[in-house]
Amino acid sequence: MDELIGGMKMAKGRVFFDQDLCKGCSLCISVCPTKILAIDLEVLNAKGYHPAYVENPDNCIACANCAMVCPDLVITVEKFDKQKEV
Ligand code: SF4
Ligand code: SF4
Repeated sequence: MDELIGGMKMAKGRVFFDQDLCKGCSLCISVCPTKILAIDLEVLNAKGYHPAYVENPDNCIACANCAMVCPDLVITVEKFDKQKEV
């Protein structure tokens, strides 16, 4: 069941993108079970690609699928400590 605080869904973690390393291959988007990643068509990075980004960070379950599949080590996943959520 989703964890709710004040009616808001709470993320179980957070993902960070080193966007200038991204080549926009979309692999991370295809493996995210909660479908919260997307390509940012508004941004061009240092390599000239549209990079991936987190569209809906509140739904991240910190599964790390995205970080494991990324061939360029763009993504870091921070898992929230359960005890700190109380
Ligand atoms: S850690 Fe899991 S849920 Fe969060 S963005 Fe990556 S694939 Fe999606
Ligand atoms: S898998 Fe890595 S290189 Fe490919 S779009 Fe995602 S972050 Fe960018």
